[in-house]
Amino acid sequence: MASILPSVLLSVSLLAAGPAFAADSKRIAITVDDLPAASVTSIAPAEALRLNQQLLAALRRQGVKAVGFVNEDRLLVPGQIDSGVAVLEAWLDAGMELGNHNFGHLGLWNSPKEDVEAAVLKGEVFTRWVTSRRQAPLRYYRHPYSQTGKTETERESFEAFLAERGYAVAPITVDHDDYLFACVYDRLDAQRQAEQRKTVGDEYDDHLRVSIKVFETMSQELFGRQIPQILVLHANRLNADTLDRTLTTLTQVGYAFVPLDDALRDEAYRSPAKASGRFGPSWLARWARAKGVKLSVYGQPDPRGVTVKWHAQLCRE
Ligand SMILES: [Zn+2]
Repeated sequence: MASILPSVLLSVSLLAAGPAFAADSKRIAITVDDLPAASVTSIAPAEALRLNQQLLAALRRQGVKAVGFVNEDRLLVPGQIDSGVAVLEAWLDAGMELGNHNFGHLGLWNSPKEDVEAAVLKGEVFTRWVTSRRQAPLRYYRHPYSQTGKTETERESFEAFLAERGYAVAPITVDHDDYLFACVYDRLDAQRQAEQRKTVGDEYDDHLRVSIKVFETMSQELFGRQIPQILVLHANRLNADTLDRTLTTLTQVGYAFVPLDDALRDEAYRSPAKASGRFGPSWLARWARAKGVKLSVYGQPDPRGVTVKWHAQLCRE
C-alpha cells in the first residue's frame, strides 16, 4: 500500500494543478455517435460489444474522456436488450460519459419537430436508467445529421425543449467522413480482404490529416486562434480497429485531448449559429455564416484515393 502512495499523490497533485494550456494550444474533444454500433452489414450483439470494448481500450490507453451518443432504437431489439445495456455499462465502467442521439436517428429536416422531441424522450429510457444508478450525468444531446432545425423559430423552440429536459447541444466542429470509409470497411471481408482494409485505414488516416488542417484554418480565420475542436466519430468496425492510430495522429499534429465539457467552456461555443436547414456543416461554418464572415475554406475536402472508387462499387444504396 505504502509503495503506491507517492505515485498516487503525484497524480492527485497534477490533477489539482489542472491542465495548463497556452492560449493557442490545440485541444480536441472526442465524441462517438450511434451507440451501440453502426454498420451497413448485420452486426451480432457480441460483435457490437467487442467493437465498443476496442474503442474504449483505445480511449483509455490515450487518456481520453469521450462522450458516446446512444440511439436506443439500436438497443431496443428483442433478444438484444441486455447486450445493448452492457455496451452502455461498459462506457461508464471505462470512465466515459453517455449522451442522447434520439430513438430512430430522426433528423429535423425530414421529421416534424414534435416527432423528434418524442424521439428524444423515447431515446433516453435505458441511458437514464444506467446513468442515474451511478449518479452519472446525462446532459448532452447530439442532433442526428447535425440538423438543428428547418427555421430559426424551430431551432430555438427545439433547443428550449432540450434545455427543459436538462440537455445541452453537443456541436461538431471536425468531421472527416468516417461513414464513407466505414461503409467500404464493413463490406470488405476481414480475412480475405485484409490488404484492402489496410488501404482503407491508411487513406482514412491521410484524410484526417488533411481535414484537421482545414478546420484549424477556419478556427484561425474566424476567431484568430485555435479554439478547442470537437471531433465526431461513429461506433463502427473501422474506428474500433483504427482509433488508436487516429488518436496518435491527433497527438502527432499537436492536439491534447479534453473532455467535451471543457471544450464547451470556451467562449467560441457561445457564438450565435443559425438553424442548419438540411445540411449540417461544422459549427465553424455555421458561426461564420451567422457572423457574416467569409472564410477561405468551408469544411473538409472530398476524400480521395481508391476507397472512393470502392465506395462507388460497394456502397450504392
Ligand atoms: Zn448519428
